[in-house]
Amino acid sequence: MNSAGGRSEREAVDVVVVGAGFGGLAALRKFRDELGLSVRLLEAASGPGGVWYWNRYPGARCDVESLQYTFGFSDELSQEWCWTERFAPQAEILGYLNHVVERFDLAKDIQFNTRLTSAAFDEQKCRWSLETEPGDQYEARYLIMATGPLSTPYTPEFPGAGEFQGEIYHTGLWPDHPVEFKDKRVAIIGTGSSGVQVATAISDQVAHLYVMQRTAHHCVPAENRPLHPGEQEAVKNRYGELRAAWRATPGATAWRSLPTDEVVVTYDKSALEVSEGERRETFERAWTYGGTAIHRAYTDLLTSEQASLLANEFIREKIASIVKDPVTAELLTPRQYYGTKRLILEGGYYDMFNQPNVTLVDVRSDPIEQLTPTGVKTRDANYDVDVVVFATGYDALTGTLTRIDIRGRTGLVLRDVWRDGPTSYLGIMVAGFPNLFIVAGPQSPSVLANVIVANEYQVDWISDAVRHLESHGIETMEPSPEAQIAWAEHVAELGRNSIYTKGNSWYWGSNIDDKPKVFLPYINFPNYAAKCNEVASAGYQGFILALRAEDVSQGDNIP
Ligand code: FAD
Ligand code: NAP
Repeated sequence: MNSAGGRSEREAVDVVVVGAGFGGLAALRKFRDELGLSVRLLEAASGPGGVWYWNRYPGARCDVESLQYTFGFSDELSQEWCWTERFAPQAEILGYLNHVVERFDLAKDIQFNTRLTSAAFDEQKCRWSLETEPGDQYEARYLIMATGPLSTPYTPEFPGAGEFQGEIYHTGLWPDHPVEFKDKRVAIIGTGSSGVQVATAISDQVAHLYVMQRTAHHCVPAENRPLHPGEQEAVKNRYGELRAAWRATPGATAWRSLPTDEVVVTYDKSALEVSEGERRETFERAWTYGGTAIHRAYTDLLTSEQASLLANEFIREKIASIVKDPVTAELLTPRQYYGTKRLILEGGYYDMFNQPNVTLVDVRSDPIEQLTPTGVKTRDANYDVDVVVFATGYDALTGTLTRIDIRGRTGLVLRDVWRDGPTSYLGIMVAGFPNLFIVAGPQSPSVLANVIVANEYQVDWISDAVRHLESHGIETMEPSPEAQIAWAEHVAELGRNSIYTKGNSWYWGSNIDDKPKVFLPYINFPNYAAKCNEVASAGYQGFILALRAEDVSQGDNIP
């Protein structure tokens, strides 16, 4: 693998891909091996993996089933890789991605330890000019930003953080060495998916755990387990057919039992049209089956406030039946509509609060004021601890891109263009930024789908577009401002008609004070793919395609 060197000459390639997670690795392979273009992938980390490189915290694992959280581009890869659990742990997913790098000989085209700091479009040359840390420079015709939807950790700025004498970690920047929790006093700030996973994983070892909760999120059992003998093979025998079925669901994931397709929930009725008894039975079945089945128990849990409240009530009763202390149970009960925040899959989280060494601290009523040399100070109390874990999330979907100085035509700066919220067409391109393509960006399904499926779909769509440009002598592609305005309105409307905008979450920027409150992802993967396919079939409708100067002089028309 290449290590960053800080060369003085500018390396020219057809394509620069940024990010070596699922999206970037798929793009590198596609552009190099299928389109035959020269590609350089830049990655800030010292190895591949993206999220799975950075999130090495105890308990980290996927919450889309392992057999679905995989690439679909290679049958051989699908057949040869073996998962061990229903939901794979971080190390196994990282192992899978390292295997992909090795198997497809990707490392020779990856520059690790290299962070893209700026990208400027040179209008004369029609090339992107790129600067990196530690100093290597690149020039590319196409720039693919696969920098991740959840790759810029957010840490609230508490006064005194520098004075704390103990250890401080952020789940999204976890060190590559074991962190010892045994017999230590630990504060975890944040109770999203990361906080819930790490708390559950360490609670048995620590002397005392303070779970600092500002908002109770909805958790349901993952029901993780080793894969049954024969289960994996049965899926592999039908992978093609199953993948197609998964891609046809709103979140590009199955909620039917694998591998038999036994029906867990049918997703064909409103929660409001069935009797209480039937609803309870359905919710119970989904709860027992585990995973995200409950999400698809009824068609309107994510669109109707009334239906969403029924799921709330079911989960409230479950919490009350698990957590023995009624005050703690009450505090753990979510107050926002079911679905407004991302559903969390847990493995013993609620039960953990029955342990004497675990305390739930309500930092909504008693907010954290500062870190002190010995721990965390809220308005009314001091918590002396040895370790503070920030599980405080991410500047999601836009934060990574706006931290890079990206300049398009006439000096347009992406972070300024996005000051009041992101604009794009199909969530893939931005007007004024020719030949710059985004994978898993805002206004695309990414985080509301099985991200691997969404990423691969976008990489395929982008590569088809590039093939089209190459074969028709087209120099640049970018959206028309009109197409972009219509897309923004479409994405916003989907958001308005959903439960997601009825409560605070990172889905629309409300986890970060100065972030515009704009709904960020696209709801419904198959609808998204249909729209993107339609645009491509209509000759990239809504895009401005400009011919190369020599082709214009020969009188060619834009195809
Ligand atoms: P990433 O994996 O985030 O990769 C982006 C890469 O870009 C990173 O390696 C980063 O270092 C690099 N990068 C960023 N900026 C620069 C720069 N300027 N220069 C160079 N390199 C840069 N999704 C699911 O569908 N199912 C799950 O179960 C699931 N679990 C998750 C668990 C965690 C802990 C987190 C944080 C997210 C999870 N997600 C899950 C969402 C996850 O983001 C996607 O599944 C997927 O891993 C994203 O892949 P990616 O390649 O798009 O981005
Ligand atoms: P998150 O869902 O954004 O949760 C952040 C938590 O930090 C929230 O509980 C938030 O409280 C709290 N917080 C933030 N600032 C705070 C402050 N100043 N004081 C007190 N609390 C504060 O982040 P995450 O848990 O890292 O998850 C992000 C996303 O990554 C997930 O939604 C999911 O998509 C993905 N993920 C998936 C898995 C998985 O199971 N596969 C695991 C980890 C992450 P509020 O709710 O009040 O804002």
